[in-house]
Parts: sequence; C-alpha cells; structure tokens
Amino acid sequence: GNAPQQQRPQWQGHPAFDVNAVRRDFPILAERVNGKPLAWFDNAATTHKPQAVIDRLAYFYAHENSNIHRAAHELAARATDAYEGARNKVARFLGAAGPNEIIFVRGATEAINLVAQTFGQQCIGAGDEIIVSHLEHHANIVPWQQLAAEKGARLRVIPVDDSGQILLDDYAKLLNPRTRLVAVTQVSNALGTVTPVADIVAMAHRVGARVLVDGAQAVSHMRVDVQALDADFYVFSGHKVFGPTGIGVVYGKADLLAQLPPWQGGGNMIADVTFERTVYHAPPTRFEAGTGNIADAVGLGAALDYLERLGLDNVAYYETALLDYATAHLRAIPGVRLIGTARDKASVASFVLAGYQTEEVGKALNQEGIAVRTGHHCAQPILRRFGVEATVRPSFAFYNTCEEIDRMIAVVRRLAGARR
Ligand code: PLP
Repeated sequence: GNAPQQQRPQWQGHPAFDVNAVRRDFPILAERVNGKPLAWFDNAATTHKPQAVIDRLAYFYAHENSNIHRAAHELAARATDAYEGARNKVARFLGAAGPNEIIFVRGATEAINLVAQTFGQQCIGAGDEIIVSHLEHHANIVPWQQLAAEKGARLRVIPVDDSGQILLDDYAKLLNPRTRLVAVTQVSNALGTVTPVADIVAMAHRVGARVLVDGAQAVSHMRVDVQALDADFYVFSGHKVFGPTGIGVVYGKADLLAQLPPWQGGGNMIADVTFERTVYHAPPTRFEAGTGNIADAVGLGAALDYLERLGLDNVAYYETALLDYATAHLRAIPGVRLIGTARDKASVASFVLAGYQTEEVGKALNQEGIAVRTGHHCAQPILRRFGVEATVRPSFAFYNTCEEIDRMIAVVRRLAGARR
C-alpha cells in the first residue's frame, strides 16, 4: 500500500523527552526475542520497570525490611516510613486531599471488589441501580453483577457510538433516583477510548449517585486529579504504571471512607479486640487487614517518582504522536479494520486483519520480536459491540519509538499482501 504522509513525532530527540535516554532506564528493553530487539507493545497488559524501581525494591529488602506499625525497633520504623511515604506519593500523584484517602490493595481488580464489598454492601439494596459502560474490563463488570444478584439490584449499561465513545445522552436517560453507583473506566483497555469522566461524575452527582472511576489504563498516560474529577472512588494497578505487580490503589473521599464498614478482618485493621467486640481503625488502615505488600508499595512510590520526573504532560504529548503515527499507518493497510476510532484515545490501537485469525498476526509479530496482545482483552462485551471476538492490540508507552512501529507495520503489511 501507499505509505501515508504521517510525520514522525517532532518530539523525538527533543531535549525535554529523549526517548533513547528513557529507554536506557528500562533494562528489559535490551532483551532480544527470536534474535530481534524486543518491541514491547503490550503495555495495556503490563508495563516494564525502570531500574529505579528495581533498585528501590532491592534497597528495601537489603536495608529496611520489616513488618510495619507493630514492632518498635529501627527496621520497623524504616519500613513504616517507606510504606507511608509511598502512600503520600500516591496521594500527591492522584491529587487526593491526603494520604488517609489512599488504600493499598493487590491491584485494580481487588480495588473494585473492595468497593463492592464495602460501599456496595452498605449502600446498594433491592431495586437500586448500578450503571457501568459498555467499555468496561471484566474487572469492572463482574463484581457489580455479583453484588446486583446478591442484593436484587439492577445493572444498567451506557452504550457507545460506532467510534467506541460513550453516549452521554443515553447515559443521562439511565440516571435516576435509584442510581446508587456509576462505575466507569477513564480509558478503555480494549479500544483506548478516553471517556468524559468529569461529565459522567457531575451527571451522577446530580441524582445523588456515587462514582467509581477505573483508572487502570489512565494513570500511565495522562495526569489525573481525582479532586478535579470529583470522583468518589478511583482505582488503579501498580504494574500498569511501571511499578511492581501485586500492589494497587483505592482512592476514596475521606468522608465517604469514614462511613464504610471494613471488608476483610484480621490484624492491622483493628484498634481493639475482645471476644465480645472489635473496634476498627480509621481509614485507610481499616481496609488493610493483615500484612500488606509493603515492598511493592514502596516500589510503586519509586515508579510514580520516576513518572513525575519524566512529566506526565511530556508523556501524554509524545504518546499521542506515537498513537497517531501507528494509527495512520495501520489504517493505510488494505484489510486492516481499526476497532475503536474515538477522537479522544490513549495508547491502544486495536485492529483486525481480514483473512487472518488475531493469533496468527500475533505469532507473526512475535517472530520479529514484537509483543502485542491478541484475544478478547477481558472486555468481551465491547468487542462484541463491534462484531468481533478478538483483536490484535498494540498498546504504547513512552519508551516506544516510531522505528518499532515501522517494524510492526512492515509485518502487518506483509501479511496483508500475502492474503488471497
Ligand atoms: N480495569 C482495566 C481497565 C484494566 O485494563 C485492567 C487490567 O487489564 C483491570 C481493570 C484489572 O487490573 P488487574 O488485573 O491489575 O487487577
């Protein structure tokens, strides 16, 4: 096909964002796969870790390792300071009012389940309504479905248009005084759609509903300010934002968290226990039963520091150029159908190629050292909305380059040419 006139991002080589220098911060990017340099386009599944995060984890275990809060000795104090320091970093990163609004969990999935099992158990009853969007990841569907079934509540779905953007007029019609919660993603993991969350929140608040924003795919690509969004809950996973696996975050407004019952019971979350009665700690400790993922919380703090140093506005600018570049070149290949064409998108360029199963495309790319996810991306309802069961999903991060995208385009173009 004819190469489109899409320019490479001017930003490349810009002193404020030197992608080659940034790449040297990520040791895994020097790996070779099938004899080729690794091109990591599976950032929506998980992101790689800069040396600063790897070093911070090693430093914790070498110099600070202890359980927190309980023991009154030097290492307990170091571990506690490191853990609470990370909570402060997360609070600042999200624009929260304070660290007491930040609960550490395993990831976005556990975060959503925590909200369902605390806020949901307390505030959602028979005949009440929960609204999700058609774009949601299964993690932001199934916990609400389970809760609705248990409580006799109703799950309602905001439709999207043919570009994969949320239809606000239809959303307005779903809202009513029985709406207790709206749970919506900020960025779709399957399509890359950036949703109008601030509008979604404001509209929900007008009927007295609370809003949970799933930020799993947002925090690595754009600056987030939970107070500006006025989100009641905001959740994300550490591993998708250049931090470790096994650590994630629930943000909740302080006054709201203060009213909620605990979820899991055990050590750490209590102020006093007798066999007759237990007094729970205030949030966030109330929601952190047992020994948490201390080291990985500290590692997440280091990841957020790293990202702040790069500057999220620089990241967003560079990535937008990358995505535009990839999109223009993919669109020009005969037989490629882009799935998700909203004007406002981040990171993700889902597509299908006529004549090929998505796994065939994924295998051909892997042969060239290029990692993409193929399949349903844990978001079956939205793919079916577009009449497909699976897509090929390159998803970009700030350490990707146009040269890597050129390699991907060459493979897809070759497959397209070999068709028939
Ligand atoms: N929400 C979205 C939008 C996601 O993309 C994901 C992961 O792919 C999740 C939630 C679940 O995150 P985790 O598997 O880290 O709990």
